[in-house]
Amino acid sequence: MNALLGAALGYAARGIPVYPVHWPRPTPGGASLACSCRQRQACDRPAKHPLVRHGIHDATTDPTQLERWWSRWPHANPGLATGIVFDALDVDGPAGLAALRQLTRTANLRLPGPLVATGGGGWHHWFTPTGLGNRPPRGLAHVDWRGIGGCVLAPPSRHVSGGSYHWLRALDEAPVPEVPAALRALLDPEPPTTTRPTDPTRSADPDRPAALGHPYGRRVLADELAALGRATPGQRNRTLNRCAFKVYRYVAGGVLDEEDVTAAFTEAALTIGLDPAEIGRTLASARTAGLANPRTVPVGPGPRTEEDGS
Ligand SMILES: [Zn+2]
Repeated sequence: MNALLGAALGYAARGIPVYPVHWPRPTPGGASLACSCRQRQACDRPAKHPLVRHGIHDATTDPTQLERWWSRWPHANPGLATGIVFDALDVDGPAGLAALRQLTRTANLRLPGPLVATGGGGWHHWFTPTGLGNRPPRGLAHVDWRGIGGCVLAPPSRHVSGGSYHWLRALDEAPVPEVPAALRALLDPEPPTTTRPTDPTRSADPDRPAALGHPYGRRVLADELAALGRATPGQRNRTLNRCAFKVYRYVAGGVLDEEDVTAAFTEAALTIGLDPAEIGRTLASARTAGLANPRTVPVGPGPRTEEDGS
């Protein structure tokens, strides 16, 4: 089997949505590589932009669709949607590595999880989903975070420089770890210096959580987004309803922000291929039911995703 298709099917089997990305193609005469798109050498994101119209929103775990794509484009690079099964710390070349090393030294961090060497001379560290979107970690130059709505190229993608993406520690060799607290702290928004006067429903109660919510709530959100990512075709809409209901209950309890939750579920549901109109209806119904059944942060150990077998 085509190694690129084989890899794409392997990621999909882990619940990671995959989509096809342009690839590096030899220029006429074969002296160098250029993007497989019509722009060729003029392309500003060579071998990094999607072949499908909606990019990560077209990403899927459906093997039949992946086989169809890779039979049409056998050289396509596999792009993976982040934020569902994993988030990625994207370290851009030596400058990014230097910034990250400084953090790991001062915070005495180890990063033992899956690690990709990118074809362009960078690295991707994989972590369990945080529920956060794409953002640069504060104070780490040349380092980025890929979460909800984000994507990374995965091995064995090829880079226009001629290099290829490969595992330094593969998924079979290392479990995907949680983000260490010292790194996670750089991803959270800075504490606000003033309350938000524009929103009268928020400013009155000093116990009301900030926009991104209580850490417990964010864990619940991340767990439920991961459960949604694992839903099998045919169960996705039901799973969206069930997972979103659970999370909206914490919105009702003041633990999470409603807009953030709706945006996160919308993005994740689009990524696994649900129809936008269907997503809107399902989330509206889950929201009504969830808001009527508030839950707050329990005393005791961290959240657990209840797999209720449906
Ligand atoms: Zn291109």
